[in-house]
Amino acid sequence: MSAMGCDEFVEQVTAYLDGALDTVNVNRFTGHIADCDGCEVYLRQIRVTIAELGRLPGPGLADRTTATLLAAFRDRSANETPSEGSQDVRGAGFPGPLSGSS
Ligand SMILES: [Zn+2]
Repeated sequence: MSAMGCDEFVEQVTAYLDGALDTVNVNRFTGHIADCDGCEVYLRQIRVTIAELGRLPGPGLADRTTATLLAAFRDRSANETPSEGSQDVRGAGFPGPLSGSS
């Protein structure tokens, strides 16, 4: 069993929290935390981030951002009411010259 490096630790951290790692890699993962203070802190920060977001950070975050933007665009176009029927056509009644000075 080879020791896990910090770069691999970072790659595996979401899989670990997702329960997606197999037993061997979980042992290597937890073994690395025992040896590496930096990664122990990193794991703690990831846990806090997940607690705040209510979900795992990852590629899905971009999808959610896109959906939020699309919803914002939909709201904006819904508020733009078209100005049809508000045209006021005038000028049909021509008064003509007043002729009463005889
Ligand atoms: Zn490390």
